[in-house]
Amino acid sequence: MIQLSDRLLAMEESATIAMSRKSRELKSQGKDVISLSLGEPDFNTPDFIKDAANEAMVNNFTKYMPVPGYEDLRESISNKFKRDNKLDYSKNQIVVSTGAKQSIANVVMTLINPGDEVIIPAPYWVSYIEIVKVSGGIPILVNAGIERDFKITGEDLSKAISSRTKLMIFSTPCNPTGSVYSKEELKGLADVLKKNPNVVALCDEIYEHINFEGKHESLAQFEDIYEQVVTVNGVSKAWAMTGWRLGYIGAPQKIADACSKVQGQFTSGTCSISQKAAIAAMDADPIILKDMISAFRNRRTLVLECLNDIPGIKTNNPGGAFYVFPDCSYYFGKSNEKTIINNASDLCMYLLEDCLVAVVSGDAFGDPNCFRISYAASEETLIEAMRRIKEALSKLN
Ligand code: PMP
Ligand code: GLU
Repeated sequence: MIQLSDRLLAMEESATIAMSRKSRELKSQGKDVISLSLGEPDFNTPDFIKDAANEAMVNNFTKYMPVPGYEDLRESISNKFKRDNKLDYSKNQIVVSTGAKQSIANVVMTLINPGDEVIIPAPYWVSYIEIVKVSGGIPILVNAGIERDFKITGEDLSKAISSRTKLMIFSTPCNPTGSVYSKEELKGLADVLKKNPNVVALCDEIYEHINFEGKHESLAQFEDIYEQVVTVNGVSKAWAMTGWRLGYIGAPQKIADACSKVQGQFTSGTCSISQKAAIAAMDADPIILKDMISAFRNRRTLVLECLNDIPGIKTNNPGGAFYVFPDCSYYFGKSNEKTIINNASDLCMYLLEDCLVAVVSGDAFGDPNCFRISYAASEETLIEAMRRIKEALSKLN
């Protein structure tokens, strides 16, 4: 009999992917499901990027490439880091991977020995935990509640650090809360990292451009800790390129070299055509994203207004990304004739069954009082989804 590895058996399926699979199945059965479960822009990849991909094919960029990525792409990423983030990463400090997801897995795999502790502020993006666990690391969760806009402070970080701490992983803007760390807040974390030079911080900035409150701030900007920070980014979100599978890191040389080594054994460089297309994205002025950002801002306002109109629902005011992470604990213990809601998972199942709206339970993101709504959908769809959610919740007593 086939026996799967303990490593695999201990791993949870990605809740975001599981929920979107479930809603796809229901749709294929003819059900009118509205899926707000997956964090995927509903825009198309811009034409100038597709043109660059076509050109790459015509010019036969279809062969194996250097493991960390084509030199010209890494040059463009290096320029992008300077232009947008004032960060100095030479092209040798950049490793391009098959999505930011692989970038994160590479970093964890290169740093973590079994038993090492990895600090993860909660709520967190689902995959951080599983990537850490599969590498033998021990996730140490630090909770920051909705009252604090779900952000941890230097003091919280300091309390969580032990002699076994190797890494900290977080995102800003944050998936699932939309929270954005200000420069002062990052400075609070940087001061603690400075006192703990053996701790590396992985700062996931994939939602960098989807920021409604002004300037994006990078953790690596603090010179004292530059050598302790890995900056992760990618083209999936801002450039609506989820299917092209391209992410990257800017990292201290030692970590960049180690990530190339791992990647050379696991996957090699990512798709040659995606790499050439990504040069066009990296070289473009991010100002061209303003219409998309403004569409996301309007949707955020719309969703927040609708949620604030539902009794018992609490929200923060997300400054970026395209998620809202409402606290729904008011409904725990309530029921209709058929269903009792004990937790956020029950609530998400109830919403899917009662009103055909798919959202993701907060358990998967480390906060069981909340659920995640991805508002990467048209305003019309969002209005209908919010109407359905409000009606479904009004049936619970
Ligand atoms: N980090 C965060 C916070 C994300 O939400 C995602 C979403 N997929 C990723 C990383 C991975 O992105 P990619 O599509 O580049 O693998
Ligand atoms: N990051 C997105 C999300 O959180 C896409 C799904 C995934 O890669 O897990 O929904």
